[in-house]
Amino acid sequence: MSTYVRFRHFGRIGTHMHSVFAARNVGRYKSSKPEDSQEGNPLLKYLTMKITATGPITVAEYMREVLTNPLKGYYMHHDMLGEHGDFVTSPEISQIFGELIGIWCVSEWISGGKSKSLNLVELGPGRGSLMSDILRVFSQFKHLLNTCDISIHLVEVSPKLSEIQALNLTEKSTDAKYEDRSSCYKMGITKTGLPINWYYNIQDVPSGYTFYIAHEFFDALPIHILQKIQDEWREVLIDVDPEIQHKLRFVLGSSSSHIAKTFIKGFRSHQLHNVLLAPGTADLTADVDFNFLKRMIGNYVSFLGPITQSEFLRNMGIDLRLKVLLENAKDATTQQHLIKSYDVLMNPNKMGKRFQFFSLFPHSRLEQTSNVKYPIAGFTELETS
Ligand code: SAH
Repeated sequence: MSTYVRFRHFGRIGTHMHSVFAARNVGRYKSSKPEDSQEGNPLLKYLTMKITATGPITVAEYMREVLTNPLKGYYMHHDMLGEHGDFVTSPEISQIFGELIGIWCVSEWISGGKSKSLNLVELGPGRGSLMSDILRVFSQFKHLLNTCDISIHLVEVSPKLSEIQALNLTEKSTDAKYEDRSSCYKMGITKTGLPINWYYNIQDVPSGYTFYIAHEFFDALPIHILQKIQDEWREVLIDVDPEIQHKLRFVLGSSSSHIAKTFIKGFRSHQLHNVLLAPGTADLTADVDFNFLKRMIGNYVSFLGPITQSEFLRNMGIDLRLKVLLENAKDATTQQHLIKSYDVLMNPNKMGKRFQFFSLFPHSRLEQTSNVKYPIAGFTELETS
């Protein structure tokens, strides 16, 4: 069997991660088959022209085009989330998920010393459901948070999804003037009265005391794939198939890759999935390898986790929250819905075990926990680098 190693390219976030490349039906909760009609696929046409003109492209470049190409990228022009979409995520399944993250933020704001200002940043907010549930919790804790100047910042590359986020989160939002877009491209006030801004790039978000939230985001970022052939690492590239029209294929780079020389730390064996069919019509994801991430950044920050979704939500009090919602539910249908969605989130055979929670802090924040005065909610086990 060949040995492959995959590196996620974080673009300007500035690190590389070792991971597994797959079509969406492997990693995400709901599966649906990629369309297999190749002919007439505009992204395939574009990629074929590009590769013919300039040679094979890296998997990272392929992923970037398939997911975020401005004209035909998978994320750019349609809503793929929710029950009628291609896959379902936890915040779409139950309001409890976002509420518990909201409580986590309030708890961390208190434990971290009640900072006078807070930037809440979400990377890849999808339909905005998670942020909407968080903001509802913030409103309920207004009496505590009223000493804090809170602003909301969304990093979102998709015009379509940013529109849906604005509809869900604001009464009214305005697009920034073209010349002002170096900072944010859309702005507004949330339904709960907080300033909210949209950005294409994480480094455009203003600095300050900040919580970053990323849910099902890192697995959508581009990766590099390397293969070891007789002691030499080569990058896996994507080329047009000379035998079959309208078809792409994997090939190996001709010489030892720069990325291989720079970043090899370990490897993992895995089969490549059929990710070259009908580019732009299906999601592509790569498993996030948290241990690799820890090794890469362990000197700079401390981390807690990964722990499973069910552990985290249980530690955050999901059972109590469910009980309260059930008591307040108006009818049996609502109760059944609450119980069913709880099961999807928590059941180890559904999302409970498959999804993981992981958090990063400045070293100083975790050092405080040793005197047990300022615990970090949700994570029972303490792991430092
Ligand atoms: N967090 C949401 C959506 C997850 S899907 C949820 O859990 O429901 C991935 C999200 O990341 C989408 O909103 C997608 O448009 C966005 N996204 C993907 N690649 C991105 C990139 N390079 N920069 C910013 N956003 C990106």
